[in-house]
Amino acid sequence: MTDGAAPDPSTRTPTVRIDVGGTWIRTESDGVRRRMPAPSRINHPDVPATVLVDRLVDQLVSVAPRAGRVVVSLGAAMDDVTGTVRGSGPLWGDWLMDRDLVGVLRRARPGVAWHVFNDVTCGLADFADSVAQESPASVGYLTVSSGIGLKIAELGTGTVKVDEDGLQGEVGHLPVALAPETAGLGHLSCECGGTGHVASVSSGPGIARVAGTLGIGRYSTEWFRQAVTQGDDDASALLATVTRPVAEVLRAIWVTQPWVTVIGIGGGVAEGLGEPYRTALLKHLRGAGSYAAGAPDAWERRVRLLDHPGVDVLRGAQLLAEGSLAITRAQEADHRS
Ligand SMILES: [Zn+2]
Repeated sequence: MTDGAAPDPSTRTPTVRIDVGGTWIRTESDGVRRRMPAPSRINHPDVPATVLVDRLVDQLVSVAPRAGRVVVSLGAAMDDVTGTVRGSGPLWGDWLMDRDLVGVLRRARPGVAWHVFNDVTCGLADFADSVAQESPASVGYLTVSSGIGLKIAELGTGTVKVDEDGLQGEVGHLPVALAPETAGLGHLSCECGGTGHVASVSSGPGIARVAGTLGIGRYSTEWFRQAVTQGDDDASALLATVTRPVAEVLRAIWVTQPWVTVIGIGGGVAEGLGEPYRTALLKHLRGAGSYAAGAPDAWERRVRLLDHPGVDVLRGAQLLAEGSLAITRAQEADHRS
C-alpha cells in the first residue's frame, strides 16, 4: 500500500471524509464540515446493535457521492489490512460484528472507492506525519475518548504491525490499575461487556461512572472541565483517579518498547481537559519511585498532549488511503526482513 512519499495535499483527489465516533459522525466535503449524532450504543442504549449498524450504513451511503473516493475513520476495532470490522463498545456495546461492513458499503455505492480505517490508526497517521521531521524510530498515538486505544508505527519502515486478526493496541480492555484507596472501582463495567477494564474508569463514560461511585453528584463533562482548572478538590481527586490507569498504560509501553520515543495523547477526554490532564498524567509517571522511571524529564519529552490543534483523523484517513503508512501483519513483516 505504501508507494513512496505521500503526495502533496494540494494535489489530492477530491474526497469525502467521514469520522464515525461513538457520539458524533463528522463529515467533510468540498471543505465544508458537518456534524450529526452517531447511531451508536452511547446515543441509543435501547436500540439493538444490528439496527444501529443498518442506520450507520444508511448515513454513510447518504453522504457518499455517486462516484469518487470516500475515506472513513471508524471508531471500531477492525482489521486495517482487510477492512474487517470486529466490534466497538461505544458504537455497538458487546455485540460482535457479523457483517462485512466495508463490503456492504461497496455494494451500496459501487462507483465509490471506499477506504475505511480504524480511528486510532487514522490519528496515528496524522500525528506521525506531524512529528516525522523529528525522526523518531517509532511513534505512538493514544486516544482517550468514548473508548481508549493505542497504535504504534515504525517510521523507519513506514509500517504499523498488527496481529493475525489485524489488531494492535486495544489497551482500553486491559485490566485496570488502581491505587489501593480506589481499588473498589475495579468492579465498574466497560462498554465491551466486561468489568474492571482501563476504559471502565478512564474513558469518557468511565469517568462519569467513577464520579457517580465517588458520590460527585454535580458531575458533568463541562463541570469537570471547568473545575479541574479551578483546583476543585473533587475534580482534582477524580482527575488523579481516572488518569492513573492511562499512566500505567504509558509506563508499560515504555518498559516493553523503549524505541517508542514519542507518544501523542488525543481524543475528546484528553483534548477537552487539556493541560491539567497532561499534568496529572506526568505526576503519576514521575511518581513511580523506581529506577525504571528513567530521567526526571524523560516523560515530558515522550508525552505530547494533542489538545492544540488536536489530531485530525479525517486528514489521517486520507493519508492512509494515500499510503502514508502500510499496515502489515507482524508475521509477514518478520518474514520479509
Ligand atoms: Zn472493555
